[in-house]
Amino acid sequence: MKIEKNKFYSGSLGDMPADEFRKYGHQIIDWIADYLSGIEKFPVLSQVQPGDIKKSLPAAPPIHGEGMDNILNGVEQKILPGITHWNHPGFMAYFNSTSSGPGILAELLAAAFNANGMLWKTSPALTELEEVTLNWFRQMLGLNEDFWGIIYDTASVSTMHAIAAAREQIENYQIRQQGFAGAKDIRGFRLYASEQVHSSIDKSAITLGLGIDGLRKIPVDKEFRMIPSELGKAIEEDRKNGWLPFCVVATIGTTSTTSVDPVDKIAAICEREKLWLHVDSAHAGVTAIIPEMRNIFNGVEKADSLVVNPHKWLFTPVDLSVLFTRKKNILKRAFSLVPEYLKTSEDSKVENYMDYGIQLGRRFRALKLWFIIRYFGTEGISERIKEHLRLGKIFSEWIINNPQFELMAPVPFSTTCFRAHPKEINDEAKLDKLNEALMNSVNSTGNIFLTHTKLNDKFVIRLVISGLRIEERHVITAEEILQDKLTELLIGKEHRA
Ligand SMILES: *Cc1c(COP(=O)(O)O)cnc(C)c1O
Repeated sequence: MKIEKNKFYSGSLGDMPADEFRKYGHQIIDWIADYLSGIEKFPVLSQVQPGDIKKSLPAAPPIHGEGMDNILNGVEQKILPGITHWNHPGFMAYFNSTSSGPGILAELLAAAFNANGMLWKTSPALTELEEVTLNWFRQMLGLNEDFWGIIYDTASVSTMHAIAAAREQIENYQIRQQGFAGAKDIRGFRLYASEQVHSSIDKSAITLGLGIDGLRKIPVDKEFRMIPSELGKAIEEDRKNGWLPFCVVATIGTTSTTSVDPVDKIAAICEREKLWLHVDSAHAGVTAIIPEMRNIFNGVEKADSLVVNPHKWLFTPVDLSVLFTRKKNILKRAFSLVPEYLKTSEDSKVENYMDYGIQLGRRFRALKLWFIIRYFGTEGISERIKEHLRLGKIFSEWIINNPQFELMAPVPFSTTCFRAHPKEINDEAKLDKLNEALMNSVNSTGNIFLTHTKLNDKFVIRLVISGLRIEERHVITAEEILQDKLTELLIGKEHRA
C-alpha cells in the first residue's frame, strides 16, 4: 500500500507545524461532535473477538512519519470497532462513566499546558485551582469545612492513600520508619469492611502489607448493609486474639447493589474503638448534591476520609477521583519526603501536592472538574442526577410489576438488581443459566449493555442509570429488549423440550 507523504512535514526537527495542528485539531473536534451526537449508531458493546485489534495493526513501528490522514483513518478503521461506547445511552453496565463536552475540552487544554503539579511552583494555577474546585465540590456535597480534598486518578488509589493514613495514625508503632518488622509483638493489623465491599479494599490490604488476612469482612443484613453489632463483635474478638484493629471502611453505594452501610452507627463504633473511618462512596456520593438525597451522608461528618469519583456519575472523562479527609496532616505525615532538589522558597506558604501521596508528577485534572461545575452549575448537575434517579425508579417498578421478573435487592439510587424468574422455573441452577443467557442475548443486540453480579449465590443482572445521554426512551428500549429476549429464550426451551 502506498502511504501518502505528509505535506506539512518540512524535514526540520521539532513539533508538528502550527498550521497542521490547526487543520487536524478542527477536524478532530468536528469528528468528536459527530461521534457524540450520532453515538447511537454504534453497538454499545464492542463486537470484536480477543486479538482482532492486535492482528489488524502492524507489529513493528513505522520508520518514517506518516501523515495525519493516515493516522486518523487508522482510528476509524482499526480502533473504533474495538471501542465499547461508554458514552452510549445504552451503556447500563458496571457503574457507568460518561464524558461531557466541557470535560473533553478541558482535557484538551490540560494536554496542551502539560503542566505537572508536583509542586505549587511547577504550576501555581494547577494547585490553587484544585484547592478552589474541591472546596466548591465539598460545599456541593454538603460536607463540613473540616474536609480537605485531593485528586487522585481512581477510587482504588484514593482509598489506598486513606488506609495508608490510617496506618500512619496507629499509636506505638512506626510503620513508616520500620515497616511491619517493628510490630512483631502483635498478630497483625486489622482492617474491616462489609462482605459487599469493593475489591479495591482487598487490593489496598495487599499493597499496604496488611495482607488479605489483614482485611476482615463483616456480614451484611438482608439488604446488603454492614451489621454494626457484627463489626463490634469482630473487633472485640480480634483484640482478644492479638490483632490490632486500626481502620474500618464503610460503603455508601456498594458495587453490587448500591446498598448503604449505616455510617452513623459504624462511626460511633470507630469513635469508641479509636479506629480510622474511611467511607467509600465512589459511585453514589455525588447524589448528595441533591438536597433531598443529602441524608445518605448521615454520619459522614464523623468519618476521617471519604472518596467520591467525579469520573463516575459527574460526567468527567476518566480519570478523576476525589479523596476528602479531616486528617490532612496525617496523610502528609504518611507520605511527605522532600529531597533537596524539590525544595522551594514557597514551601511554608503553599500546598505541594506531592506531599500527599506516592506519585510525584500529577496531571491537571482539576481543570475538567472546574469546567464541568461551571458549565452545568450545581443546579444543572443536580437536575441531571435527579432525572437518573427517576428513570431508575421507572425501571425498577417495571421489574416489580412484571410477573416474569424478580427484584433482587432494594434500589436506593438508580441501580436495579433483578433476574428473570418465570413461575414455572424454580430450580436455582436453571435460573442462573437462564439469566446468564438472557444477559448475553440482550448484550448481543448492541442496543444496551448490562452486566451481572452474584447475590446469595444467585446470578443477578444489574441495570445502572447514570449516563449523561440517557433518556426515558432508552429505559423503555431496555424493557422491551429484556422482555423480547426472555420470550425468545422461553419459546426456544419449549421447542427443545
Ligand atoms: C467504582 C468503585 C470503586 C473503584 O473505582 P476506581 O475509580 O475504578 O478505582 C471503588 N468503590 C466503589 C464503591 C466503586 O463503586
